[in-house]
Formats: sequence, C-alpha cells, structure tokens
Amino acid sequence: MSKPILTIVVPCYNEEEVLPETVFQLSEILDSLITDQLVALGSTVLFVDDGSKDATWSLIERFHLSNPFITGLKLAKNAGHQSALLAGLLKAKAYSDCVVSIDADLQDDTSVIREFLVKFHEGYDIVYGIRQDRSADTFFKRATAQGFYKLMTSLGVKIQYNHADFRLMSKRTLDNLEKFQEVNLFLRGLVPLLGFPSTQVYYDRKERFAGESKYPLRKMLAFAFDGITSFSVTPIRLVTVMGFLLFALSVVAAIYAIVGKLLGENVTGWTSLILSVWFIGGVQLLAIGLIGEYIGKIYKEVKQRPLFVIEKELTEQAQGQATVTSQASQPASARR
Ligand code: UDP
Ligand code: MG
Repeated sequence: MSKPILTIVVPCYNEEEVLPETVFQLSEILDSLITDQLVALGSTVLFVDDGSKDATWSLIERFHLSNPFITGLKLAKNAGHQSALLAGLLKAKAYSDCVVSIDADLQDDTSVIREFLVKFHEGYDIVYGIRQDRSADTFFKRATAQGFYKLMTSLGVKIQYNHADFRLMSKRTLDNLEKFQEVNLFLRGLVPLLGFPSTQVYYDRKERFAGESKYPLRKMLAFAFDGITSFSVTPIRLVTVMGFLLFALSVVAAIYAIVGKLLGENVTGWTSLILSVWFIGGVQLLAIGLIGEYIGKIYKEVKQRPLFVIEKELTEQAQGQATVTSQASQPASARR
C-alpha cells in the first residue's frame, strides 16, 4: 500500500492548559511516522474547538501559523464532545486515507498511534484503542464506566469494553459512518455496527496531563442514558413484561378475592374494589408497554440507519481481471 495520509482529530473544550503539550507530542509522533514512511507527507493534526470560552482557539491559530502540522476547525458554539468529534472526522475524511481520534488531555497513550498505523497497513479498517489499566482513573469513574459497559452488553448493545473514542478509522468506514443521520450521537456504539475488518490495541490510561475533566457526572449520566436509549428498546420491553406480570397477578388476586367473598370473609365492597385496582393497573401497564413497542419501532424507522454496509464488490469481467472496488452502503430509504 502506498503511504496513507493520516489526520489526527482532537476535540477540545477549554483545553488551553494542555494544548501546547498536545501540539508538541502529536507533532513529534507525526514527524516520526513520516520519517518511518508509515504515513505520507501532508498528514496533519486537526484540532476541533468545541466553542471554548478560554484561549483554546487563539492558541490553535497561533500554532497553525508556526507549525505546518497544525490545522483547526472552530465550532460556533459548544456542541458536545461527540458532535465535535464527528465534525472533525467528517471534515478530515475528505482529504485523508485514515483518521485517528484522540482526546486533547493526553490521557490516551499517543505512542499507540504508531501501532494503529501498523495495523492499518496490515489491512484493518478500524483499530480500537482499549484501556488495559485504568488505575489512573478515580475509583468512582472506573466503577461507573465498567458498570455501564456491562449494562450496555446486557441490553444487547455491541460496544468494545474499555474503549472510548481513541481509535483509527479508514476513509471508507467514515464514508459509511456519515450515512448514520443520528442526532443522539453515541459513536462508540455506531462504529461496531459498521462491520469491516477491525482489531484492538491495548494501552494504559494515564491521568489528565493538565486541566480538569470536561465531563462532570451530569454530562456522564446524560451520555450513558443517550447511549442506552439510542441503541436499545429493552427498557420499553421491560414495561411490557411488567404489564404481563401484573396482569397475571391480578388474576391470582381475583381468585383470592372471590374465594374470600364466597366464604363471607370480606368486608362489603372490598372485593369489587380490589379487583378493579389490580385489573386496571395490569391492563394499563400492558397498554403502555404495547404503545411503547410501537414507539420503539417508529424510533428505529426514524433513525434511517443503513440496513447494510458493502465492503467489496466485483465488477466488469475484463479478460479474467475483475476490478475490486470499495463500496458505500445503501441507505434504508433506497430500499423502498
Ligand atoms: N470535549 C469537547 N466538548 C465538550 C466536552 C469535552 O470537545 O463539551 C473534549 C475535551 O476537550 C477532551 C475530550 O472531549 O478532549 C474528553 O473530555 P475529558 O477529557 O474532559 O473527559 P474525561 O476523560 O474526563 O471523561
Ligand atoms: Mg479525559
């Protein structure tokens, strides 16, 4: 394979404290990758300023003038980590063969980018960076994060355990990612949906180089909730199941109440009252669950996710020489 053009995409929100070091480390990496012929000249770092309120953008502008590796994209207002990342990925794919996404805070091991590239040369389209040792994270962060991965898996969502958004993606996977028109972005759930040859590289997660986490508990919970509700309708199904159970229970309660009535043990009026309470409760929950099931279906339709992703195609049988082309996927709407 000829040398690929690599773009490293870095979303930044109020990262003035860490940015100079990030620029330094990523430039060094790019420099050595170019020297070792792993990537082509013209590979760059793209900083996406996610509406920062501090000097982040002016720093990016300054580095852009003095350092040929540094490019920037400024969002008009804070759009959130996932949206900022997507903005960078889609911008970069126009002129790159592969894109690596990494946080600005240097928690993820930048030296692993070299291993990403080696895997890319071996023919992998997606390389996931997996956190092997998270001892640098607080106990709370580690416990909640790992609980979240378990919950997601039990809800039937395929995600990579201990992988955040540190990964390499080839141009064709990004072309296909663009077809997902979701507003509730949860990239680490979407990427595995694409398929394509993928592999993992392990590294130890470090502490933030400087500055504070831009993901307070409130944002973390919202993010987790988004992830679950964007990929799973299991919570709705639980309501339906509860409705069924309550309904079954109401039958038992009915028998109990009627037997009590026949034996003359009940206070007048209690039987009919308790029967109504159980029965109506059960029917209501069941009905809500049923409506939920339809809403779940509508939700899936509205997202218009591609039904399939084509990896390769053989066309034109020219003198026994078939051309292999990479193909984009078909949006769900094209099927009808
Ligand atoms: N970030 C962003 N927009 C936001 C919040 C965060 O672009 O609204 C960026 C942030 O600058 C960093 C990355 O997302 O590069 C991850 O954030 P952070 O390191 O604070 O999260 P943590 O590692 O604590 O989960
Ligand atoms: Mg971080």
